[in-house]
Amino acid sequence: MNIKQADYVKSAVFEKDYPEEVASYEFAFVGRSNVGKSSLINSITGRRKLAKTSKTPGRTQLINYFIINKEFFFVDLPGYGFAKVPKIMKEEWGKTMETYLASARQKLVFVLLDIRRIPSEDDINMLKWLEHYEIPFKIIFTKVDKLSNNEKFKNLKNIKKKLVFDNSDVFFHSALNHTGKEEILNYVETVLQN
Ligand code: GDP
Repeated sequence: MNIKQADYVKSAVFEKDYPEEVASYEFAFVGRSNVGKSSLINSITGRRKLAKTSKTPGRTQLINYFIINKEFFFVDLPGYGFAKVPKIMKEEWGKTMETYLASARQKLVFVLLDIRRIPSEDDINMLKWLEHYEIPFKIIFTKVDKLSNNEKFKNLKNIKKKLVFDNSDVFFHSALNHTGKEEILNYVETVLQN
């Protein structure tokens, strides 16, 4: 799939403020702050500044909707897991996220994990949440350019002590050289066609 057009639509907290559904599925992106979520969205849409990168951690508590090729939505969900974020904001994050996950939107969630890190409790809870709500999801490992193949192999082995997955069922992405971009977009296309 080629992305010819990608535009910001709106930001929302409550379900009534989400834009009207336009396709069979929408694709949401979630992960801990700094995992590379904005960079990934910019990379796969081919737009340098669509999602803002390196914002103040924890500030972006809103759900951001982008329309792709005038056909379907990408949804940028607020990042999690910043130690410095006040408790009240964590509660707000929880409410915003739960509203989204429990909503009737037909969605597929990409869960972003930094290939260099062992998944945190927050990451594991996120995955449990998706399972609880029976929401289809796919894992994308980010920043793969930062590791050699050897290191990547070693890290995956360690990550698998926390998380069960098949290498053929996850994506590997780099925002630096756009590794994995095509695979992710082809997958999006497949989901939309079904
Ligand atoms: P977000 O908080 O999850 O949206 O993360 P950002 O997209 O703002 O990225 C956080 C930091 O990681 C920034 O300094 C990015 O330049 C860097 N980064 C993100 N993705 C990659 C990647 O694929 N490769 C490398 N080398 N750096 C990345």
